Amino acid sequence: MSEDDAKSGPPHDPAWHSDTILTHAGLAPHDYHGFVNPPVVRASTVLHKDADALLARSGIRYPYGLNNTPTIEALTTALTALEGDKAAGTVLLPSGLAAVAIAIMAVMRPASKVLIPDNAYYPSRRFGDVSLAQFGGEAVYYDPLSIDDLTAKLDGASAVLIEAPGSLTFELPDTAKIVAAARDAGALTIFDNTWATPLIYRPLDHGVDLVAYAGTKYFGGHSDLMIGSITANATTWPRLARLHKNLGLQAGTEEIWLTLRGLRTMSVRLERHEKSALAIAKWLTARPEVERVLCPALPDDPGHALWQRDFKRISGLFGFVLKGGMPEAKRFLNALRLFGLGPSWGGFESLAVVAELDYARTIRPWTEGAVIRLHVGLEDVADLITDLERGFAALADG
Ligand SMILES: *Cc1c(COP(=O)(O)O)cnc(C)c1O
Repeated sequence: MSEDDAKSGPPHDPAWHSDTILTHAGLAPHDYHGFVNPPVVRASTVLHKDADALLARSGIRYPYGLNNTPTIEALTTALTALEGDKAAGTVLLPSGLAAVAIAIMAVMRPASKVLIPDNAYYPSRRFGDVSLAQFGGEAVYYDPLSIDDLTAKLDGASAVLIEAPGSLTFELPDTAKIVAAARDAGALTIFDNTWATPLIYRPLDHGVDLVAYAGTKYFGGHSDLMIGSITANATTWPRLARLHKNLGLQAGTEEIWLTLRGLRTMSVRLERHEKSALAIAKWLTARPEVERVLCPALPDDPGHALWQRDFKRISGLFGFVLKGGMPEAKRFLNALRLFGLGPSWGGFESLAVVAELDYARTIRPWTEGAVIRLHVGLEDVADLITDLERGFAALADG
């Protein structure tokens, strides 16, 4: 089998737009008697026809169940296609956290710094502080809103993590400036793009080297699986593929299949998440109990101009600052009936949490009131607003 055959997955047309990729990527019905969806291939051993084929198996399309199956390939092909021309390949991981951690490890030089934004997803910080240090690395936090702060810390850095908007507090960094500064300093960039999905923003198009996702969120979309993915550009793909292989990592077959199923409807789900989240964000701006709404789509948000440049759309996740602290936040949350109280997000249902920011920021400690983060699901907006009114009414009762 030629090198090209070894790389080729199910057919897809490079001219396809995102919605067509979501609908058709990974499908090859006539390889499977015409059934629309590919069968789920559960595999360890791959049998070879003879001894010569057995000995030549390294480098073929399906050497072993860990490395590739038609099921793995259907999803990696789709995810690579969704990131555009710069994408060279995708690996799957058992969680979004593994995707962030492995992306960092893939491009890190020994005994080097990794720059992490102060508002990163908290477990990414924990990985940086505890586990990177164990392998001779050093996590250094930068202010995502200050290019000067970043530039001052770049010397000797091998990688810069970017997350936009920031976890829990939704600040928008100037990604273009961060990528340019990192490149000037010889550091590679990793973008945690879980919030936007490739339908809203494609980091590799903007010079980023690796894009990581918690597919647990919008790819899966139904709160019933955990998966991660990393898509690399041509510079970083060989390193990423090697580390992924050598660590023996892969996502579970059932999770991959459920993620493929989720992807088919991701675009229509996101449209609805966006429309409802925007309606609720606007409604919240007029509430007397709300100090401010943390959503870059709103014209008064400090990140609005960058949002117009880079994103132009939102997903279903944003926050607001309550007038008050933890006692008020607890009363508000306890009164909700439709919004479930729990972490993670990206499923069909609405969720609310209070942000625990005291240990999650070291550069810019959070000094405002309690932050409530909402994931706006696919329910009727009027019913969600009634639920939030219940929460606000509970504040007045206190
Ligand atoms: C949820 C999340 C992760 C981690 O994903 P898991 O699949 O839950 O491990 C990473 N980054 C961001 C921005 C997330 O929201």
